[in-house]
Amino acid sequence: MTNTNKEIPYKIYLEESEMPKEWYNVRADMKEKPAPLLNPQTLKPMTAQELGEVFCEELVQQELDDKNAYIPIPQEIRDFYKMYRPSPLVRAYCLEKKLDTPAKIYYKFEGNNTSGSHKLNSAIAQAYYAKKQGLKGVTTETGAGQWGTALSMACAYLELDCKVYMVKCSYEQKPFRREVMRTYGANVTPSPSETTAVGRKILADHPGTSGSLGCAISEAVEVATSTPGYRYVLGSVLNQVLLHQSVIGLETKAALDKYQITPDIIIGCAGGGSNLGGLISPFMGEKLRGEKDYRFIAVEPASCPSFTRGKFAYDFCDTGMVTPLQKMYTLGNNFIPSASHAGGLRYHGMSAVLSQLYHDGLMEAVSVEQTSVFEAAEMFARVEGILPAPESSHAIRIAIDEAMKCKETGEEKTIVFGLTGTGYFDMMSYEKFNDGIMKDYIPTDEELAAGFAGIPKFPGNEF
Ligand SMILES: *Cc1c(COP(=O)(O)O)cnc(C)c1O
Repeated sequence: MTNTNKEIPYKIYLEESEMPKEWYNVRADMKEKPAPLLNPQTLKPMTAQELGEVFCEELVQQELDDKNAYIPIPQEIRDFYKMYRPSPLVRAYCLEKKLDTPAKIYYKFEGNNTSGSHKLNSAIAQAYYAKKQGLKGVTTETGAGQWGTALSMACAYLELDCKVYMVKCSYEQKPFRREVMRTYGANVTPSPSETTAVGRKILADHPGTSGSLGCAISEAVEVATSTPGYRYVLGSVLNQVLLHQSVIGLETKAALDKYQITPDIIIGCAGGGSNLGGLISPFMGEKLRGEKDYRFIAVEPASCPSFTRGKFAYDFCDTGMVTPLQKMYTLGNNFIPSASHAGGLRYHGMSAVLSQLYHDGLMEAVSVEQTSVFEAAEMFARVEGILPAPESSHAIRIAIDEAMKCKETGEEKTIVFGLTGTGYFDMMSYEKFNDGIMKDYIPTDEELAAGFAGIPKFPGNEF
């Protein structure tokens, strides 16, 4: 549904003064709240004090807050945002023309900063609260490297120490991201490593493993909790990260509102759920309050299908089982997905907020195979000029598919999708695609069953 009176520009920008001053917390409007994090020993909800041993104090408050709809963005963070935000909302006129579709397609482009993705939105917030608490530094994990890069940039800006555990296969396959992080002053270790007890155990149990996000999280948490003056920060999955990423959705909504555009379908790729959660939050709020209705579609890789084939259950957020238990769609904490090219989507679990929304039928999910994702990426790059990240291209795939359905039916739907980042550091994957040797891997039911067997069993956790 679009107001046709006003010509829509290729790029809708907001003025600096129109940028959000508060994050929006969708949990406040959810009737069914996401289940609380549980302490794996006591199976009781994690207290603020327990969480405070791992996370910064103010971030713990944000993690537990399911009442306040709006949380002010501190001025220092808003100033940092101004260096690379507002990000453009682009009308994909060229893609529409190429597809010859009556659909109107828009994408919110988050790749306009050196880290190359939306992750900087939360990195700066988390680093800010760590600094404010007087900490020396933070530890984290990174998969494909986008989160580690973003955090390194934020820590350099605030002069905080940054220790990154990088999934081993990415560390080896993506030396350029590693060097960006080191340029920004981060200390980068391939995971699993010999530097932690949990890393040594994982190496002993799975010799030669190329690592996973779950393993790297275990290592980073161990270092944070055993080093004075350090806390652990995470680039996705957690409620606080979704909250920070709501800046994407708030800007998108403000830009659409300027031209009285109402989307019909909102699409995003889903790894841990933060960009999708952030993009849809304000729109989901309207749906939850009964003001408007939208279709929301999460797109995940067929090789790591947490929503579409996972179980809704309490599980650990990491492979080493050192984190609290979170109720979410999960493939099991010991599920190690095949080495697909969308590293940022290789995670066994999913945001608790999105899991609950999906469980309640408020959101849809689909899975796609990577060669079809790269076909979409190639078409998009050729007509829209941006070389997209493999992760983001999952959303492009489904946006194109939905636009083609409109071509069949003649419907003029308005489609908005999140273009989370650029793919310049992913050229090895593009090389495989261009050489025609990219493979699609879909786990068998038996392989998934092995992952489900690792989900902890206790009364009330039936799935
Ligand atoms: C990390 C990443 C994702 C996936 O993470 P979410 O938390 O699900 O948003 C998607 N796109 C890019 C470019 C990323 O770096």
